[in-house]
Amino acid sequence: MTFVSVVLDLAIDKALDYSVPPEWQGKLLRGAHVEVPVRNKMHSGYVLELKESSCFSPVKPVHGILADADLIPPDLFDLALWMARYYCTPLRQVLKTILPASIRSHMEHKQQLFVMRLKTREELQEYCKEMRNRSPAQAAILDEMLLVKKGILLTELLEKSKASRSSVKSLIAKGLLQVDSVRIDRSPLEGAEYCRTKPKKLNPEQAKALQEIKSSLESRMFETHLIHGVTGSGKTEVYLQAIETALQIGQGVIMLVPEIALTQQTIERFRSRFEGKIAVLHYRLSHGERCDEWHRIRRGEAKVVIGARSAVFSPMPNLGLIIVDEEHEHSYKQGDEMPCYQARDIAVLRGKMNKATVLLGSATPSIESHYNASRGKYKLHTLKARADTASLPVVSIVDMAPEFAKARGFTNFSEKLLEGIKDRWQKGEQVLLFLNRRGYHTTLFCKECKKAVQCQHCDLSLTYHMHENALSCHLCGYRMAPPPKACIRCRSPNPMKFQGVGTELIEKSLQALFPGVRCLRMDADTTRHKGSHQRLLRAFATGKADILIGTQMIAKGLHFPQVTLVGVLNSDASLNMPDFRASEGVFQLLTQVAGRAGRGEFPGEVIIQTFMPDNSTIQLAAAQDYNAFYREEIKIREAFGYPPFSQLVKLLVSGENESQTKAFAEKVRRDLIQKLTKEYEVLPVLPSGYARVKGQYRLQFLVRGPSTGPVSKILENIGPIPKKLRVRIDINPSSTYF
Ligand code: ADP
Ligand code: ZN
Ligand code: ZN
Repeated sequence: MTFVSVVLDLAIDKALDYSVPPEWQGKLLRGAHVEVPVRNKMHSGYVLELKESSCFSPVKPVHGILADADLIPPDLFDLALWMARYYCTPLRQVLKTILPASIRSHMEHKQQLFVMRLKTREELQEYCKEMRNRSPAQAAILDEMLLVKKGILLTELLEKSKASRSSVKSLIAKGLLQVDSVRIDRSPLEGAEYCRTKPKKLNPEQAKALQEIKSSLESRMFETHLIHGVTGSGKTEVYLQAIETALQIGQGVIMLVPEIALTQQTIERFRSRFEGKIAVLHYRLSHGERCDEWHRIRRGEAKVVIGARSAVFSPMPNLGLIIVDEEHEHSYKQGDEMPCYQARDIAVLRGKMNKATVLLGSATPSIESHYNASRGKYKLHTLKARADTASLPVVSIVDMAPEFAKARGFTNFSEKLLEGIKDRWQKGEQVLLFLNRRGYHTTLFCKECKKAVQCQHCDLSLTYHMHENALSCHLCGYRMAPPPKACIRCRSPNPMKFQGVGTELIEKSLQALFPGVRCLRMDADTTRHKGSHQRLLRAFATGKADILIGTQMIAKGLHFPQVTLVGVLNSDASLNMPDFRASEGVFQLLTQVAGRAGRGEFPGEVIIQTFMPDNSTIQLAAAQDYNAFYREEIKIREAFGYPPFSQLVKLLVSGENESQTKAFAEKVRRDLIQKLTKEYEVLPVLPSGYARVKGQYRLQFLVRGPSTGPVSKILENIGPIPKKLRVRIDINPSSTYF
């Protein structure tokens, strides 16, 4: 092959031809990162194709090879090209998302070096003692080397010991350590022990679903299955047996779970079936561990990958099955950074590219997926009953208006909920209380000017945290301690007033209402430290507390058989959000929370407190009637032309200077209006739901139309973005408000 066509980072639709110098022939593979001249300037690009001839001949030669490409599997390279186009993101940035950082540094020719001990621990300890005074840096390195099992990445060692490369070199010269480019596998699950579980005998609904999934797997035809099953209906058991089939016929499996579900509970369940064949990718892995897992997968040693969103990019050879658990979860969408990809969509696309079977599962499927199933694009399987003996909980709605009137505004608990809590506490059963607000009070406001104390850098009122006696911003972390005594704005001498209820206050009031009750609280404040999440869950599971209070962290995926009462303290806030997905989100959340009750032998009860008892979303969630909710919601989507009846693109421009930010957003908007056909509607520029964050103004607008392609095409060429401004293009955003 004497020619290559090369895609440049920014112009992915216009590949250019180059000749390959003789010394590199045979070395340049598809996906190789190369340097090529364009109008006498050097640019980097990727080899798209190898060819015998070029119709543009004579062409210029490739100037340099930046990195070998055999690290990127061909299917992932194709995926990257597709994503660059669809998500309107430079290829280089897409590859950054697809490949773990440590693999990329490999590509950039930074060698991965591992440091290992050449002496026994005892000998090293002796040296370490001797060196403590003479060379503290070398002693610090040895300290770290005494902690590691077999070895450590040089970069990690330098970071941890805060020593320099030359200190490591002296230790190597002394024959104490050795450096090698050999990799050491440090499986994150090493050391844990599991008892093996056996597949359960499936009930008829499960068996039918599995049968059809099996035939997809065996025929190796791309097919997507949607399993709609109430919580506890045995979806996971179907996943487990589908994985078993895939493994038997030699296929690799990727299973995506929401980050919050990546708890020991889930991992243990999969580990216990497929010991040794599993790689778990979660955000707590170090760079080194991530790199090892990536190579283990690539080499075909880990046949099953479990991970959050980005695990969809695992380099799995012979990929045959991709599972997306809780497919409706918004955490599958990357919204804060480009490419703003939706991992569920990528899963379906990878399935198509690899002729694999895709399995989506949920108790509350996303409107889009259910719509696809109703149109025959996906195969729908419904699991109606709970798989074990547990029955569905009894759900009731409590109107908080009369309760509030009775208590003159001084209550967060209805009588019914209080009685329920007392009853369970006396019986030794457990209670889960859900409130989507952390902190003690949600605002501090001035009775005179009626304004809440705001963050200096964001457009958000500050939350009061009693424990620290401070106000804090949940967007940027700004703190004001202690809280101001008088209003900063109008200087009125009247005292300020706290308002709004958070999880911290609920915990305190429960302790006052039920002296001696044991509470645990789980929210972003109590799970800041590594491992605290697991510790809290374990403490609750082992009965160290009667009540668990928490934010959305406790809403999903958890399985506590002793919980017989679930209370939703206030379900209204999110319903008032001006977002076309608001009702869907509330329905999903309430159904998930309700699903936490009665998972054991005792029946469960759910109490939903609300000021909008007649709201149909709340009523349908209480009735646990997904199909009715879907029918209602799809009608609204159709009437207002929202997805799946249209596609959306959101453009967000942010910058320090409000008028410059707005001007640029308006300019892009005008450009779109001019170039798009009549089928496209370009909505006005508005401040985002968070109008200012960390000192940056945020302005956005939406484009709605039959497809996103023409919009991306125009946005790809919006020209130079003014310095100090940032632009984010979000294709089919999960929220139109934030
Ligand atoms: P889901 O994933 O839909 O929430 P799970 O697969 O976790 O449901 O099943 C809920 C419970 O029922 C689990 O304890 C599981 O072990 C059990 N289970 C699932 N399928 C069966 C079955 N066919 N027979 C008996 N128990 C089952
Ligand atoms: Zn004031
Ligand atoms: Zn802030």
